[in-house]
Amino acid sequence: MRKAWEPLAKIDLHAEKKILGQLAESQAAELTYQQTARLDELFDLCETLGLASISAWPNVDEYDEWFRPWLDLAVTLGGFDRALLSAEASLTLERIDALPADAPRYPLTDEGRERTLNQWDQVLDQEAAVRLLVRTLYRGRDAAWTAACALQYTPKVDLAIQLLDEAMPDLRSSTPHQEIAAKTLIVLSHGSRLESWITDSDPVLQALAVEFMDIDDLMSSPARIRDMLKDADGRVVEAVVGRIRQSNISELQDELRRIANEPEPAWSCTNCGHVNPQGTEFCQECRRGGPRPSAAAKAILEGRPMPGKVLFSLGRTDADEDDSS
Ligand SMILES: [Zn+2]
Repeated sequence: MRKAWEPLAKIDLHAEKKILGQLAESQAAELTYQQTARLDELFDLCETLGLASISAWPNVDEYDEWFRPWLDLAVTLGGFDRALLSAEASLTLERIDALPADAPRYPLTDEGRERTLNQWDQVLDQEAAVRLLVRTLYRGRDAAWTAACALQYTPKVDLAIQLLDEAMPDLRSSTPHQEIAAKTLIVLSHGSRLESWITDSDPVLQALAVEFMDIDDLMSSPARIRDMLKDADGRVVEAVVGRIRQSNISELQDELRRIANEPEPAWSCTNCGHVNPQGTEFCQECRRGGPRPSAAAKAILEGRPMPGKVLFSLGRTDADEDDSS
């Protein structure tokens, strides 16, 4: 299967007009003055699809194959009014065509409000919809996230779980995509994967299991907790330290002291996959902030609030643009 994370240069720059054209194919409603001024239905749809982010847009040659059915499904699942969308899209196309050639891009995502994509009873072919949503998990990050939000409400739970299980090995090559699929699996399977993920060799799955497991189940095995606190990957250690804080287990104080007194452990970057050595605060490749279990352990021991996440080091370069894909 093809990968989701394409370079920016492949984005379909004509997609905006294609979206408006597709919406305008439906029978149009008569717009009130307020509707022509606000274009609520259209802006809400664009907001729901996350179109403010380039990672929600189709690449060149993807519109008919993927984005067209995806847009159609989102309209249905969000309960959007097709006649209103049609009229608002036509009006917007007229406004875009009236702009001078050097005008800035017409904004479709100014003031919309996100809607919940949960109206599965309106979907005629629910199995096809589940397959389309799982395929969308391979696209840009924001498209994948929106698809996951819709997938969590599907009544076709067994099919969705089967397809997600099949997709997980492929999605491992991008941690953000892997996390989106894994969280969807956690919701749909009511956490039944967590027991096996907690011993998985993959730090992404292990950290998610630590984060989402019921606190009593997690703390029922202090030996396992101690093992994970010695894990090679800082994100697992950070997840465990965070849960220890919620559980007040006093016999782990010695482990917390050890972690607090050591440099931050090595960690694999969730953004680019680079493995950063011990004591590295920011990813050596993309400068994303890493896990800081040592700082967290110090805060717990001293009764201070947990340290905030440091997302980036200063100085953006082109490498940061990968974040949007
Ligand atoms: Zn990185």
